[in-house]
Amino acid sequence: MTATMPRPTRSAPPPPPRRLPRRGRPLVVDLLAAAAGLGLGVTIALAIEAQTLASIGTLPGLLTAAGRMAGLLAGYAMLVTVALSARIGPLERAIGQDRLIRWHRALGPWGLWLLLAHVVLIVLGYAGVAQTGVLAQAWDLVLTYPGMLGAAVGTALLLLAGVTSYRKARRRLRYETWWAVHLYTYLALLLAFQHQVDTGASFAGHPLATAWWTALWVALLAAVVGWRVLLPVVRSLRHRVRVVDVRRESADVVSIVLEGRRLDRLPVAGGQFFQWRFLTRGQWWQAHPFSLSAVPRADRMRITVKDLGDHSRDLATLRPGTPVFVEGPYGRFTADAATGHRVLLVGAGVGTTPLRSLLDDLDEHADVAVLLRGGTGTAIALRDEIAGEVERRGGRYWEALGSRDRIAVTADTLRRALPDLPDRDVFICGPAAFTAGIAAACRDAGVPAARIHFESFAF
Ligand SMILES: Cc1cc2nc3c(=O)[nH]c(=O)nc-3n(C[C@H](O)[C@H](O)[C@H](O)COP(=O)(O)OP(=O)(O)OC[C@H]3O[C@@H](n4cnc5c(N)ncnc54)[C@H](O)[C@@H]3O)c2cc1C
Repeated sequence: MTATMPRPTRSAPPPPPRRLPRRGRPLVVDLLAAAAGLGLGVTIALAIEAQTLASIGTLPGLLTAAGRMAGLLAGYAMLVTVALSARIGPLERAIGQDRLIRWHRALGPWGLWLLLAHVVLIVLGYAGVAQTGVLAQAWDLVLTYPGMLGAAVGTALLLLAGVTSYRKARRRLRYETWWAVHLYTYLALLLAFQHQVDTGASFAGHPLATAWWTALWVALLAAVVGWRVLLPVVRSLRHRVRVVDVRRESADVVSIVLEGRRLDRLPVAGGQFFQWRFLTRGQWWQAHPFSLSAVPRADRMRITVKDLGDHSRDLATLRPGTPVFVEGPYGRFTADAATGHRVLLVGAGVGTTPLRSLLDDLDEHADVAVLLRGGTGTAIALRDEIAGEVERRGGRYWEALGSRDRIAVTADTLRRALPDLPDRDVFICGPAAFTAGIAAACRDAGVPAARIHFESFAF
């Protein structure tokens, strides 16, 4: 680890008071977890209540009852899966988008397996009662039962979304293709909902059960429309964000300076990110996540982007005046996550961008140590600026430069450089393997897991 301190390029003026996002509250998580558990209980009760001893007294009856239970559980699992990715504000702040997406991915396959079980068991059960062939029964169900054609299309769309989300398949797809397929799941769920209330044994003739199920789905729809559509539209119209400048930081990194009305009223903290939609002919249809590299000051903020693909490359050609639609802010990689006033920030490559804006929000008296990692100094985005800010604060700054095999950051190196490491909060951002390695080294050096915070640039 070499202790180099590049010359600071400028020292930032003290920021004017800004509106900050509300802290995430663990109580929100507990309440929502309790509500989800209660909802599961009610859903199981609905499925049981629709059966009688006589109806499950035969094998076809038993298969049909199991199929109905699987169908209701599939619907409930999908409802929770969508809620986890609906970007519901209090959930995002309390849990963080990366963890919510991990849960969304873990629960998603359960909904699909239950859906498959529902289809197979119901067809087998009905075929048994009618004493007909399985294929003929499936055909009859789709063509003659109300809402079933839509449900069949919905099932196909959901399975397609599931298959394209499997890691191997997803790696082969462009992100935008995967995303477009995923968008169809909303249509699929709408179609599936219709057949549930039209034909479900738990709902036909049960107005209270129908009202409960409908209320759940309407609440989910309201959450998705509210948080994913209306709030971003209102924020974008209110703040009217535009590109004012695109500056080249290095061969493959640019900073985009954005201007807008009263940006200091945006409830955003350093380290957070937005989904950015640049309204040009070729880019308006896709939104990408980028962290702030400078927090809003009056009417300006900034992101710093590395060329990692077609979209990020095209951002270098943005013209001043380009309007921008913003969705967010998101993320818990913020100064208020720190439990004390001593911090260590560790970044690699373009992972330094949220660290730069997080530095803006740390208390002036915070004891700051920063370690940046890169193959060469120029690979570290905003290197001089970060070094300058650390120097202004009287903090400690290191760079670990060189190839991965030559430079290893271990628990020992960290402890030697910072004997008080176990008392610090550590913020890490960089490639996944780097982040995992530094987090493990910090844990080995005695930093409690709750004090290790990281942002991942990949969902
Ligand atoms: C929370 C977060 C914060 C980020 N902050 C920054 C930042 O400050 N600076 C920076 O340079 N990069 C940042 N990234 C990474 C950046 O979003 C991707 O590099 C960019 O979206 C790549 O898009 P592309 O079309 O250029 O490349 P592609 O070739 O399409 O993709 C390259 C990689 O980015 C992933 N990716 C593509 N589009 C998206 C998307 N819409 N959402 C999530 N992942 C996507 C792909 O899965 C692939 O792994 C951040 C990512 C996340 C998740």
